[in-house]
Amino acid sequence: MDNKQLLFLSKVSDILTKDIDIKELSDSLKSLLEQFADAKELKIYIYDNITSTIRDCVDNWSIVEEESEIYTTFDAIKGNDFVINSKAYKLSEINDNTTFKIDSVFMPLVKNEKIFGLIKLELNTSLSNDFLFLMKIFASQVSLKLQNIVLDEQSKINVDFHDSMKNIAKIIETQYELNYIVPLIGEMLDRFISDHLIYVFLKKDEKLDLVWPKACNDERVYEALNQLTPETEYILTNNDKIGAFPLTSDGEISGCIVARSTLDGLSKRDISYLEQLTRQSAITINRANTYSKILQYATIDALTNLNNRRQFEIRLKQEIATTRRQNNPLCAMMIDVDFFKKVNDTYGHASGDAVLRGVAGIIKSALRESDIPARYGGEEFAILLPYTHIEEAQIVGERLRKTVETTPIEIDVEGVDAKELSVTISMGLAEFNNKETGEELFERADKALYEAKTSGRNRVCINA
Ligand code: GH3
Ligand code: MG
Ligand code: MG
Repeated sequence: MDNKQLLFLSKVSDILTKDIDIKELSDSLKSLLEQFADAKELKIYIYDNITSTIRDCVDNWSIVEEESEIYTTFDAIKGNDFVINSKAYKLSEINDNTTFKIDSVFMPLVKNEKIFGLIKLELNTSLSNDFLFLMKIFASQVSLKLQNIVLDEQSKINVDFHDSMKNIAKIIETQYELNYIVPLIGEMLDRFISDHLIYVFLKKDEKLDLVWPKACNDERVYEALNQLTPETEYILTNNDKIGAFPLTSDGEISGCIVARSTLDGLSKRDISYLEQLTRQSAITINRANTYSKILQYATIDALTNLNNRRQFEIRLKQEIATTRRQNNPLCAMMIDVDFFKKVNDTYGHASGDAVLRGVAGIIKSALRESDIPARYGGEEFAILLPYTHIEEAQIVGERLRKTVETTPIEIDVEGVDAKELSVTISMGLAEFNNKETGEELFERADKALYEAKTSGRNRVCINA
């Protein structure tokens, strides 16, 4: 090897030791090759396992068209060292006095003896096998660097993707309320497919209703929805900027996830991810539907073991009737956990669930036998206190508020460092006035709760 070639390799090493992205890497290598080999063009192609396509990683990871010679080259180069002017060679096949007139040369990028990409050089010069030998060293050095850059990037996406899939599957373990599940799925997709706005629609009364986010003003989204049939895999419209992925259940459309790009069209990779995430979402949503049908007939909330909302409403009617007949005092208590969203956001939903269970436990232990506690929804609890005047309810409520504040709740969730969390609650109280319905009584308690929230939280307010 002569000095010039050694210098070339040492310059390559210099470039490869830098902490640079793929674009910078390719630019530096290209200008080096221009100087040393009069190269005209350098391209780096990577095979994408997920979509089974080849990507031009310097050109924004765009997918190389199917008809391109890159695909045939990718096959032809297997077991060889180069593809020169469309013909495959092993280095050993080229003897010392061979001189080539080369237009283009492809070199494989190899990891664990598997080709994961190609480097293409356009040259327009005559080259010797000496130079090819140099290029072989060059390609294997660059392979190592690219593995780090590319596979890192790819695996980051894959890890995120599998986390999203797992999370969607996991939500259902404790949750069955669609109005809780769907926003979570929407948020997760939104975070994952970051260049796109995500909309989630669910079928209600033969119509697809937007359930996440709150609004969608883009007519084109609705146009895409109108094109759906139960056989649709997915629909792409408006230069692939809108993708509609139906959720199906028993061969019927039960909803739809729509991705709307704010920049480019959806890439094949986005589509592949969205398809898989939609399928997982459909399973979760379908299971939630089945669950909620079964649970309509249950009386107990599965997460907290308190009365569920439906059972609570039945008990409320009964208690109001008894109270009216006997003219007993009766109080309503509404509780909402403060800043609960933060618990979910910081420690994950499993921790949030553990906290809800913990708060429910504290509520139960603070009450009397005759009191009727319920999980009213999400992180809200409603409690009916028969035979209780407001003064007494206030004492009970204040004691409960304090107990929650001072009792760390044990959480035992995989992957979460915190072992205990403390939360506070806000509370609204109202005493039954004999003229109102049970519903109106709790509306008043809820107003007091609202006051407790707006006046600073972690307090008890009374609707007098
Ligand atoms: P505020 O003090 O105003 O009540 O703040 P907050 O964060 O508690 O209020 P918000 O109503 O905005 O958030 C309630 C959160 O509770 C949103 C929802 O994701 C979460 N949540 C509802 N149900 C469940 C559940 O069953 N499990 C878990 N982990 N989170 C739930
Ligand atoms: Mg709330
Ligand atoms: Mg809250």
